Amino acid sequence: MLVRYAILLAFILLASSCRDSEAEAEEASTVSTARAVLDDAYLFSAREGGTSYVTSSGGRRVCVAEDSALPVRRGELVEKVHSVRSTRALVSMTDGRKGWLDIALMEPALGENALLANSIDWEDIRSEPSKQASIAKSGDTPSRYGRNSPVRVAAWHYDAELYRERKTLETLKVWAQIYIEGELVGWVDPANIRLDGQIHDRAFAPVWYPVRWVSRLLGDGVIAAILILPFYILPVMCGFVVAKKLSKLLRFLPNIVLYLIIVVVAYQIYSISFISVVDASAYRWGEGRMYGYLLFGFLTLIVMFGALKAATQSVREGRCPACKRWMGQVQRREHLSTETETTTTTTRYGDGSESISRKTIEDEHWQDYCRCSNCGHAWSLSRVERR
Ligand SMILES: [Zn+2]
Repeated sequence: MLVRYAILLAFILLASSCRDSEAEAEEASTVSTARAVLDDAYLFSAREGGTSYVTSSGGRRVCVAEDSALPVRRGELVEKVHSVRSTRALVSMTDGRKGWLDIALMEPALGENALLANSIDWEDIRSEPSKQASIAKSGDTPSRYGRNSPVRVAAWHYDAELYRERKTLETLKVWAQIYIEGELVGWVDPANIRLDGQIHDRAFAPVWYPVRWVSRLLGDGVIAAILILPFYILPVMCGFVVAKKLSKLLRFLPNIVLYLIIVVVAYQIYSISFISVVDASAYRWGEGRMYGYLLFGFLTLIVMFGALKAATQSVREGRCPACKRWMGQVQRREHLSTETETTTTTTRYGDGSESISRKTIEDEHWQDYCRCSNCGHAWSLSRVERR
């Protein structure tokens, strides 16, 4: 049953992934107005790196572009943007050269080209591109803009003198000038905005696209985040499939080793998909996006333990303890007893009144009788279901 569910979920994800990348490709090809390079720049071979530290003539260590980077001149035209990551975009120039260009060195796309990645207050918006600049505050406008507000990035700013010395934006502070709802609001840290199609450097595209698709389908918000929870059982399901395959090859493996394999595989997948899910879904908010990370971690743990419980039960039922073949089947499930435990909490208030709350936990004890259709071995399993 679990395997069938996993296959179904995987199929849905795959289908959505294909649909989304097709849509993405279409979007990119229809909005292919050429955009100018704003300063002498480089096309790097990867979305990260291609720079190194050298000691300048003044004796300081500075970050510079490596020789492998292709130089492009100010005013040259970018014909097509293929992909947008944290700080660089994969672009093709009109002369056919292709590489990763620092986003802030390319003219912003026309029209609304971004969303707010998190809610921002007026304190986050400056009148000039500098931390010392005054807050770009005006009287009757709202003091806070919500996450996902449509934004137009009109211009980028960085220290041009330092840039010409280092030839890379890697260690420089970049600012974005933004319009929200058609009104110029000021300069913000680019971490607060997400350009159209922008994906985090460490996000894994086959996870990112389906999660974003589901998120969009359900409306980008916390409800979407909770509704995509069932997908978090997938890593455990993958672990289960791997463990089952392996136990058919190495029949002597004890069940405990299979459980370990499931946990290790699931952990690997969770760690690869962590940034992807946070970046593509509704989990980006709060102080340094901390709340989002915590919520996602917490929800993942809950789902993971539930799925692990189901997976271990499947192993115990399906795998015959005698011949170690996956020919076991449950013949009968017997409900033995139910233990009820009630905790009463009495709260006394200052005015002498009391309130009593009762919480009931029911533990159902079950016995499952299994039989192997290969060797005829019969065994029973006990389990407790808490309600
Ligand atoms: Zn057997």
